[in-house]
Amino acid sequence: MIAWPNLDDKSLCSDVAATEGVWIKLSPFDLYCVERFGLLVDQLLQSELVVGYGTLITKVPTKTLKAMPFDEGIEVNEQKHQIRILKALSSEHLSKLESSLVHENALEQAKDLKRRHEEIVELQKCPVCSGPVEVVHQAPNGFIATCSSCKTNRYLRGKEYEQRLDSEVNFLTIGRRRFKVLLRN
Ligand SMILES: [Zn+2]
Repeated sequence: MIAWPNLDDKSLCSDVAATEGVWIKLSPFDLYCVERFGLLVDQLLQSELVVGYGTLITKVPTKTLKAMPFDEGIEVNEQKHQIRILKALSSEHLSKLESSLVHENALEQAKDLKRRHEEIVELQKCPVCSGPVEVVHQAPNGFIATCSSCKTNRYLRGKEYEQRLDSEVNFLTIGRRRFKVLLRN
């Protein structure tokens, strides 16, 4: 992120979030500059969090696949030796899967599984109010997560991630709570 002082830009006083990619103009006259900066931080952090959602874990050993516990959070492709984690698993299933991968010397896969699972556990927490949220998988590679407490909706559609607060759109009213980003690969 790159921030630089800009005292003259009128767009800073508009209702548009004056950020461009990783650039942000800051001014002491702009009452919303902290919010704009926070918006950039949120966009970057949330992008990092969601970019791995639904990523395939490949080259999963046959023995692990055969011993795979039934869990609606796991999508298994036995022929291609691939799995995907789409929902948080029970701690029992997670540890069974992890120890099977470690036992089969699939350490890279065990590491991927841990990371993907931690991401989903974090996604199940609302980024605005920290309340519990159900992450509902949307084929092929996205999700919808709606917070019933604060009405924050999050959508991942392919490479596009969007966060909305109810139907509010005005930056001066809701600030960093609403944004849309294109995820990099
Ligand atoms: Zn919430």
